[in-house]
Amino acid sequence: LAGAHALVGDLVGDQAGAWDASGRLPLDLLRDLGTRGLLCAEVPASYGGRGASSRDNGEFTAHVGGLCSSLRSIMTSQGMAAWTLQRLGDGDQRSAYLPRLTGGELAAVGFSEPGAGSDLSAIATRVRGDGESIVLDGEKVWVTGAYYADLLIVFARDGRNTEDAGASGATDDVVAVVVPAKSAGVTIERVAEPLGCRAAGHANLRFDGVRLPSSAVLSGTGLSLLVTTALSYGRISVAWGCVGILRACLRAAVAHAKTREQFGKPLAQHQLVAGHLADLLVAEQNAARACEHASELWQRRSPELVTATVLAKHVSAGNAARGAATAVQVLASAGASDGTAVARAYRDAKLMEIIEGSNEICRLLLAEHAVATVS
Ligand code: FAD
Repeated sequence: LAGAHALVGDLVGDQAGAWDASGRLPLDLLRDLGTRGLLCAEVPASYGGRGASSRDNGEFTAHVGGLCSSLRSIMTSQGMAAWTLQRLGDGDQRSAYLPRLTGGELAAVGFSEPGAGSDLSAIATRVRGDGESIVLDGEKVWVTGAYYADLLIVFARDGRNTEDAGASGATDDVVAVVVPAKSAGVTIERVAEPLGCRAAGHANLRFDGVRLPSSAVLSGTGLSLLVTTALSYGRISVAWGCVGILRACLRAAVAHAKTREQFGKPLAQHQLVAGHLADLLVAEQNAARACEHASELWQRRSPELVTATVLAKHVSAGNAARGAATAVQVLASAGASDGTAVARAYRDAKLMEIIEGSNEICRLLLAEHAVATVS
């Protein structure tokens, strides 16, 4: 990813605050980064991607996360879509869709529903077979990037072979369906006034009798495989994004504490403020080490990557939420209005404790791992 850090730095410049205020990212910027393969940089070169390692893409994700969490959220969605296609698509599906994601088209991934948040076993969106076609019905909520997306990867209950499932479509399997966003029967409605990542294009989706070719269903099936695949990528990406938030907060807090004087000396020389700076440094270093460890396991395709990724996401999101609050405290009134970088970080970081497995769900997964492995 040589040159990508400087390139995206130049493209974003000082516009992140304005994008946050307007709730919009420029579509031509997203398509430009997409065409360069930078929104899903781990896709192999054979599909038009950059073939970046998890670590290199992680550092790039942190860089973007420090500039603009809305843009980083789009990268997370695009990467999650690409990883789902890579892992769950057959050869034809990979060849059909991945070059589109490295060629400027944008994708989003929908698993959450009004009745299925933390508990994805409650997914009710359903796909059924109809001759050579499939038909999709249901709803998704809070899908990041869906407002900008050309393709939606939608998790649905598989009613294709279940004659007796009835209207509820109650079958065990869940499948991922690739839905062109402009298909007849798709409604995309923006989430109004999100607390943070305001330009990330979160949207609620409705599917009313959406008819697609049967090749739109990815070949991998089963809730736990789908969820582990898509969510694990989302978690490592969010975790690195939070490292970026922490780095931006650390830089802002140090710069302010070195230059702002009260009681005749810089804030950094008041020990309680210095303590805040130390806490921020520890939070950033902790999160970065947890992400580096998880990325190392991704590179080796180690089975331990799943737990290491949950741990990295949990540590990074919690540290970012606390770290951003600390940075606002150090800047005080200089960071207390919506347009400042630390105020934006404060709002953005809070949401990172909710998505891709909330704090509570991560803790439950880590406790399960401890009970199973620690003697
Ligand atoms: P609930 O599941 O109702 O949980 C409410 C609270 O209860 C939480 O604190 C939760 O941790 C806790 N809780 C729930 N169950 C348990 C339990 N068993 N034990 C202990 N505590 C529990 N979804 C998508 O599909 N695609 C996206 O791209 C996407 N992007 C998002 C972006 C943002 C900014 C946000 C805020 C959400 C996004 N979501 C997305 C939705 C997200 O995945 C859900 O919000 C998340 O899974 C939590 O579900 P919920 O909001 O319904 O909360």
